[in-house]
Amino acid sequence: MFGKKLPEVLVVGAGPVGLFAALVLSEHGIRVRIIDKEWRRAGHSYALALHPSSLRLLKNVGLIEKVLAKCYQVQSVGLYEAQERRAELRLDALEEEFPFIAVMQQNVLEGILEEALKQHDVKVDWNHRLAHISTFEDYSHVVVEKLVKESLGYIIARTEWVVSKSQRFDVPFVVGADGHHSLVRRALEIDYNPAGDTQNFAVFEFKTDADLKKEMRLAVHDGSLNVLWPLPNRSCRWSFELLDYQASEESRTKDRFEIQVGPGEYPMLTDEYLYELLKKRAPWFTSTVESITWRHVVRFERRLASTHGIQRAWLAGDAVHLTGPAGIQSMNVGLLEASDLANSIVRILQDNESNELLKIYNDDWQTEWRFLLGLEDGIKPGEKVNPWVREHSTALLPCIPASGDDLTKLLAQVGLKRT
Ligand SMILES: Cc1cc2nc3c(=O)[nH]c(=O)nc-3n(C[C@H](O)[C@H](O)[C@H](O)COP(=O)(O)OP(=O)(O)OC[C@H]3O[C@@H](n4cnc5c(N)ncnc54)[C@H](O)[C@@H]3O)c2cc1C
Repeated sequence: MFGKKLPEVLVVGAGPVGLFAALVLSEHGIRVRIIDKEWRRAGHSYALALHPSSLRLLKNVGLIEKVLAKCYQVQSVGLYEAQERRAELRLDALEEEFPFIAVMQQNVLEGILEEALKQHDVKVDWNHRLAHISTFEDYSHVVVEKLVKESLGYIIARTEWVVSKSQRFDVPFVVGADGHHSLVRRALEIDYNPAGDTQNFAVFEFKTDADLKKEMRLAVHDGSLNVLWPLPNRSCRWSFELLDYQASEESRTKDRFEIQVGPGEYPMLTDEYLYELLKKRAPWFTSTVESITWRHVVRFERRLASTHGIQRAWLAGDAVHLTGPAGIQSMNVGLLEASDLANSIVRILQDNESNELLKIYNDDWQTEWRFLLGLEDGIKPGEKVNPWVREHSTALLPCIPASGDDLTKLLAQVGLKRT
């Protein structure tokens, strides 16, 4: 049924999750095609850090040296309220091969993954959009459109993306890593259920003379969550939760250019508002704010799809879950899903294992996400937990940069247990 040149797996979406799935598949000799409707990868760092679990995955595909050469290591998480340091989590106490978080721009990671794919003769088909998918017991049927830019208009010239070619084919598997607005998910009529409150953040990156001591900090203030990440080159990112503002859906679109932005129409992105937020919510941050290189207002919903896939079309990454930004869980757990899904597909295609593996994939990651999103069986304070941690335990869960066993160990450091 499937001609020699047709792929065995079509990966839709060349974000970090799709690129990683394609890489694992091609490492195993699977014929993979990866498409993305945009014309190039992201131009900025969004999810900016790699959990220890992601570093282990990158080691498995031979990329760890490249990543470590370009990252900044964070060894602890400091928890603050007003002037007070209330608790800390020590990643460097994890008995792991990589006992730290690697701060690395998402676009740099995407570049490393795209380059690694080229070594396997797999090039991302940019400007190729999945237009339709239907899935059956043994294959999926897809329509892929090639987009080109066309000059239009006579008096006033303008350019527009138009469809230049449309291709229909059957493929044994589709991996839908096509982000939060996933066409794969929508076409298969998989519900994307709300799983908690939406949060909106004003994000600033700037140079500073602060000694950030290889630490990420969470500052709780009057019901708001505020996050400080140290970045390389004396820089940092501050994300401040906006309690009375709703950012647009478009705020989740990844820019394809690296741009230096001013506050634009947003009063919450001015220099003055930044100073006010710092003074009020993180009074301990008395360091300089030098050249602001990025500012953004962005919305973070919490959602979980009702299933990770159907028949021969499976989802990973933002296509199947969304959460808050602090713990960088969406992308990092997405990479774990990509690896697990790709390995399951390899075993089905190469070793004739049963589709049951995909049911296990679904069950495992639905369970992990139901935990991470606090939908059931959450965390329980132990006897010795400090009262501040006890009070904030539920809110802390999505803010800790880890998942799985690493998360369980970090929670235990502050007396919290996974139930
Ligand atoms: C402004 C902003 C700030 C962020 N900040 C943080 C943060 O602080 N912390 C954090 O954890 N996360 C943050 N994120 C989220 C983070 O970027 C995502 O979790 C991560 O990109 C998910 O990776 P992914 O590969 O699953 O999806 P994506 O990176 O969204 O990639 C999906 C890809 O699929 C492509 N695609 C979509 N539809 C189709 C189609 N029909 N055909 C072909 N291709 C298609 C898209 O073009 C895209 O390239 C932020 C995101 C944004 C936009």
